[in-house]
Amino acid sequence: MNHRHLLPNEIDLLVDGEAGFGVAPLRAHILECAECRERVEDARVVVDALESLPHFAPDSRLADRVMAQVPVFVPAHVAARDSVRRWLPQSAAARTAAVAVGTSVAGALTLAMIWLATQSDAVLFISGLLGDRVRGAVAAAARDFAVALLGESALTTLQATGALGVTLLLLGFLLTAVGTVAGIRRLATAGRRA
Ligand SMILES: [Zn+2]
Repeated sequence: MNHRHLLPNEIDLLVDGEAGFGVAPLRAHILECAECRERVEDARVVVDALESLPHFAPDSRLADRVMAQVPVFVPAHVAARDSVRRWLPQSAAARTAAVAVGTSVAGALTLAMIWLATQSDAVLFISGLLGDRVRGAVAAAARDFAVALLGESALTTLQATGALGVTLLLLGFLLTAVGTVAGIRRLATAGRRA
């Protein structure tokens, strides 16, 4: 004989019509206990009412609409990797050409920057020549490029540290180094195959 009232999970077992080991004493209890019998009946009414409700399914576009309003933080290295993957051509030959062109451009830019850095007169001359408006446009273009490559969140961080220019310079240098290494490796494997 069970001398305590039923627990909520035991009432669930009875409402669900479970027939496992241990249910028989619960049934015996509700036959003797009006209080528990009433609780089981109440639970059954609620379950029946829930069952009779129409079954709604969310709109298939719900997830997209919600996510469109959720600011997702993309780490800078992930955004950079995705950008590179998106811009790289699919075929191996075109990719080699793209790396070669990218290496040349990055190399030329780096050389130009080194040259400019050693020629303070030239820098003064060029910035005087460009004027404020052109300089603003160049800065805006650099900002757009950084946003496209790294994402807005990374740029905010960069601006916070005030190191955008230095970072772009380092990025160009890094691209040059990576491109050169990749090109040399490609040449080496091509030579071995031939
Ligand atoms: Zn009871």
